[in-house]
Amino acid sequence: MYRELSGQAQAGVIDLRSDTVTLPSPAMREAMARAELGDDVYGEDPTVNQLEGLAAEILGKEAAVLVVSGTMGNLAALLAHGGRGERVVCGDECHIYHYEAGGASALGGMIYHTLPTAIDGTLPLDVAREALAPSDDPHRAPPAVFCLENTHNRRGGTVLPLAYLEAAHSLAHEMGVPLHLDGARVFNAAVALGVEVRAITRLVDSVQCCLSKGLAAPVGSLVAGSQAFVARVRRARKLLGGGMRQAGVIAAAGIVALTEMVERLDEDHANARLLAEGLAQLPGIYVDLNRVQTDIVRFELNVEGLSVAAFLGALRERGVLMGAVGGHAVRAVTHYGISAADVRQALSTVAEVLSAYNSPT
Ligand SMILES: *Cc1c(COP(=O)(O)O)cnc(C)c1O
Repeated sequence: MYRELSGQAQAGVIDLRSDTVTLPSPAMREAMARAELGDDVYGEDPTVNQLEGLAAEILGKEAAVLVVSGTMGNLAALLAHGGRGERVVCGDECHIYHYEAGGASALGGMIYHTLPTAIDGTLPLDVAREALAPSDDPHRAPPAVFCLENTHNRRGGTVLPLAYLEAAHSLAHEMGVPLHLDGARVFNAAVALGVEVRAITRLVDSVQCCLSKGLAAPVGSLVAGSQAFVARVRRARKLLGGGMRQAGVIAAAGIVALTEMVERLDEDHANARLLAEGLAQLPGIYVDLNRVQTDIVRFELNVEGLSVAAFLGALRERGVLMGAVGGHAVRAVTHYGISAADVRQALSTVAEVLSAYNSPT
């Protein structure tokens, strides 16, 4: 019981690897147990229908559909936007390109056309303009969709400025290409900006957002857009094996996620800041505090004789989990179930591990 109520999978372990390790809240468990159910492939699960209606309203779109995961949501959206031999124009650091098994290429015959990603997660719009320009040239694969990511995962949870998104949106429209937002953490972006999520999603044609990250639902993502677009996403979801039956069990937790778990993301952001500021004071650690904008803290470890793997192993032995994200970089993510006290504990554990290497000999 303690484990569930604390939101931690393992009692006594401070798991900062990802906001995906969150367990459902007691209110979610309760809602899941009581959910009214039906066959969602027939459109007859009332709880799924309620979630999809609520999501469409919150995201300011005509329609929304529940999918199994963010990966499925992005892929179904890309399949709905384009077809074989067409280009997915996206950033070279984006999740769609790096972590989704090349789905649009493997299953959709699409080409990833990557653009350089700035340190804040934006893509250069002058370069995007060329990539998205319509052309009668038979050599060119036509652009099908332009993708942005907000918050930006590999850039450390950075938030796209609204003015940037607005400019990207009008560029996409000028070029006649739909703008898709990988908004796995778009609610974190909204909370960080202090706006309703709609203020962000109105600037894109389609959006995917995860219920199973900081919002703490056990399973599920949503894809939202126009009626016609969402109808195509439903077909793609079926094609991908994502047509679920009594999915109201999942949707019930999703409703709690959207109604009760958004505002508290502020707490995760404050804890990430606390963690980043503490880490920044430790010898051998470099954190760019400007880029700690939401729940993700990325830092560089530069300690003579201490590899990232050894550092993470030493932390693990002491009950603190973080993740390696390539090179000298380490990632820690705050989330539901992690308190300020946990962050302080993690900081003193890091300090203890480092002190063994930094002490004068
Ligand atoms: C986690 C994530 C996804 C994929 O979500 P899954 O549910 O893990 O498939 C997509 N995009 C971004 C930016 C993410 O962080």
